[in-house]
Amino acid sequence: MAGLVAAARARELGAEPLVYEQGDRAGGSMLLSSGVIWRHHTLEEFQAECPAGDPALQGTIVERLDDALDWLESLGAPVVSRETGNSRTVGRRFDTRAVTEALARAAGDVRLGSPFEAATILATGGFGARMAEERGLLLRANRWSRGAGLAYAVRRGAGLSDGMDEFYGRNLPAAVPEELYVAAAQLYGARALVLDNGGREFFPGQPAWHENDLVQATARLPGGAAWYVLDRRVLGERVRERTIAELVQLARTVGGIVVPAEDLPFPVPRSRKLVEPPFLAVRVRAAVTHTIGGLRVDAHARVRRSDGTPIAGLFAAGADAGGIFTGGYGSGLAAALVFGRIAAETAMSEAWSVGTCP
Ligand SMILES: Cc1cc2nc3c(=O)[nH]c(=O)nc-3n(C[C@H](O)[C@H](O)[C@H](O)COP(=O)(O)OP(=O)(O)OC[C@H]3O[C@@H](n4cnc5c(N)ncnc54)[C@H](O)[C@@H]3O)c2cc1C
Repeated sequence: MAGLVAAARARELGAEPLVYEQGDRAGGSMLLSSGVIWRHHTLEEFQAECPAGDPALQGTIVERLDDALDWLESLGAPVVSRETGNSRTVGRRFDTRAVTEALARAAGDVRLGSPFEAATILATGGFGARMAEERGLLLRANRWSRGAGLAYAVRRGAGLSDGMDEFYGRNLPAAVPEELYVAAAQLYGARALVLDNGGREFFPGQPAWHENDLVQATARLPGGAAWYVLDRRVLGERVRERTIAELVQLARTVGGIVVPAEDLPFPVPRSRKLVEPPFLAVRVRAAVTHTIGGLRVDAHARVRRSDGTPIAGLFAAGADAGGIFTGGYGSGLAAALVFGRIAAETAMSEAWSVGTCP
């Protein structure tokens, strides 16, 4: 998304940008997403949720997202809802196909099937596909984001952010087709007894509302897999628009393992979460959506060396830019939108100041 945003903004400012897109379609993971572009209400709340993230980058998202959303709408991207459905956040939900079309139209020259060789603005979506492969996890994102932007910038002297081993993801019942990435997420770990392969509770306390902490803990288990054991009573509870029973049914449909808890190869520990039998056990596997660590950037989207100095003429946005959500979870679409615009604005103003702008 960030690449299309940057190109659309640069074009608006008078440039003739070229977008190199490795995939056979535009839109990256944004096209596959739920399309909710959101922010925390305040910087303080953002920091509390992502305590190791850079406050300057977080503050920029809080300050600039609302204007950026208006801009996106002005390009013709229709809003599906002006609510996020989550009282902790504010934002808008878009139709991702329409956003892709609107941005691609505004970006102008988008070359599909064309990996970049050199670039001013890096927006390759981080390295989630490579991380999933290297750690033996499922992928829940576009398959082209393998870290090409990072590798290119590092060759030019870039530094890296904290949190290079962190990712945003979901626990899935099995490998699922792209169109089920959203629907098949088993987002009810907080209501289950969560066990590792040996029947031990491996996650201390309750997961956060987004359960990204639980997913990353699952990823650290052998095989990146765990069991969610459910009391009969929770099956009727809702996770967003569906019941847990429906999510479990979808797990079965996509070939996931759902068994009576007494069939597990270990005794299920006693728990206050398991009161009313029969108890059901659902196998879940951690799936990577995007990496959280990335290039070291500043609030102007300039890529920086490890010593903090900027690399002239090199910018990054979206998941290529690290250090925003470290230690927690936030809106990757918001980061792509806000920093995609900023990257174009900084690149244009710096180019004008050295006289290289068209
Ligand atoms: C199922 C799902 C649901 C999600 N729901 C939400 C949500 O509701 N809200 C939210 O905020 N976020 C959500 N996300 C996350 C969001 O989609 C990402 O954070 C966002 O798309 C990141 O933007 P990006 O521009 O960095 O990466 P992308 O949108 O993935 O774009 C990166 C692009 O770079 C291309 N590329 C990679 N390598 C190269 C190369 N070498 N040369 C040229 N091009 C290359 C890729 O093909 C891709 O098109 C969701 C993601 C998924 C998969």
